[in-house]
Amino acid sequence: MPHPHVIALHGGAGVHPTRDYREVEGHLGALVRDCEAQLADGASAIDVVEHAVAAMEASGLYVAGRGSAPNDRGEVECDAAIMDGARMRAGGVCAAVGLVHPIRAARAVLEHTPHVLIAGAGARRLAEEQGLAFVTDSAAHYRLPVGVEAEELLQLDSGLAHGTVGAVALDQQGRLAAATSTGGLLGKRAGRVGDTPITGIGNWADGDIAVSCTGIGEAFIYAGGARDIAARIAYGGANLDESCAAMLAEVARQQGDGGVIAVDRSGAVTMAFNSPGMKRAVAGAGRQPFVGIR
Ligand code: ASP
Repeated sequence: MPHPHVIALHGGAGVHPTRDYREVEGHLGALVRDCEAQLADGASAIDVVEHAVAAMEASGLYVAGRGSAPNDRGEVECDAAIMDGARMRAGGVCAAVGLVHPIRAARAVLEHTPHVLIAGAGARRLAEEQGLAFVTDSAAHYRLPVGVEAEELLQLDSGLAHGTVGAVALDQQGRLAAATSTGGLLGKRAGRVGDTPITGIGNWADGDIAVSCTGIGEAFIYAGGARDIAARIAYGGANLDESCAAMLAEVARQQGDGGVIAVDRSGAVTMAFNSPGMKRAVAGAGRQPFVGIR
């Protein structure tokens, strides 16, 4: 019997109450169906989450990849991580400049190095070695994502000035995987790295659960993030909903907000947030596809 494959996506925590997210909804809906079809055809969870995050990076609709905005030095620095729960192997890049697809560089770290996280120029060098695509014209490549206005680049407390994309999946063979990519906080200090590329905080997958986080990275780091959710289930006997809610309560206690998407090995999915909205979608075997913004 194949496992009940499922894919969940997020396009970042934080939604402006009055802005129009129809383009984002359309994109998430089409992408989640495409990913579900790949899983139904037998694709592996790790390939599908990489595909999903790469598509969101390329769209420019979210604060990741093409939608990333410059830091306080005018440079776009991206963070990303990917983890294959079946192999218990992860890869990540941080403060990486000029990568069209940070998630593909993270996958290269997983597949081609013994390391978990490679920063800055080292990530760029690995991407060059692997023949990955580079941004040649920053002004033409980057665009402000949906829901973010230029003046918000200077308002780090606006609750909108950040974003991330992520995907978690369970494939027909019961393998779990997670991938997460971000431009971080808009206008962030150069060199600042948040939770996203840190395996176990912004992104995690093992034999039981896959998790991708979005929100104020510093608060997620203090709260323990994705691995804290896994640990509450493994050691504390909490269920998926309870463990996500408890970790997010700790994020709130740390003066942050945000959300998580998580899937367990039975195919149960949680998409929880304490931010004003989280762009999200889910589809899977025997499930009606769902897209939500607020
Ligand atoms: N977690 C990301 C960061 O702190 C931002 C976000 O998810 O909105 O870099």
